[in-house]
Amino acid sequence: MSRELIDLAIERLREDFPNKSRSWVRRALVRFMKGTVREFSENVWVVRGLPELGDKYPTYVVRFKDGKYYCSCFESSWGLRRRSEICTHIAAVILYRNYRKLDSEVYASVINIECVDYYLEIPSELKGKVKVAKSVRVVDSSDRLNPRHRVTYVVYSSEPMELRAKLVCDGDVRELSLKLTRTRRYIIELLRQS
Ligand SMILES: [Zn+2]
Repeated sequence: MSRELIDLAIERLREDFPNKSRSWVRRALVRFMKGTVREFSENVWVVRGLPELGDKYPTYVVRFKDGKYYCSCFESSWGLRRRSEICTHIAAVILYRNYRKLDSEVYASVINIECVDYYLEIPSELKGKVKVAKSVRVVDSSDRLNPRHRVTYVVYSSEPMELRAKLVCDGDVRELSLKLTRTRRYIIELLRQS
């Protein structure tokens, strides 16, 4: 497993559950790192119990249904207390899913430019099929009204393809021929952070 991907998977978990404690995140991480999560079928996972985390059963079943997670520990003697919470079995499953998603393959092309005004246009017939992630950083703000930016675009899709795009940078219009090549999804997530 890659450290970078794990860090991102944790960060996504924290974003989704900002009110959860550090110990909740830590317990989910222990479960995930010990490889206790196994995909059983679509939207069903089996999580091996860890006695050191207070588990009474050898396995727990986590299901995702109608946009919500359910864990078999809800049905245990602590069920009434736990029902309203997201247990760390579920959190471990979410980490596992986040990681798998980050580790999955996409096809992408990266464009770096530095401009004051910029715009990238993807042919409208490809919208939905091709997505664009963007990161913008100010590199020169000496002209306060017209700061200069470093812009990174990642054009990506779930399948390999070649496409034409139009890039506008400070009035300079360029036709780009982009070839989307195989990479891992986390490069897009890295961009979201910066
Ligand atoms: Zn549980």
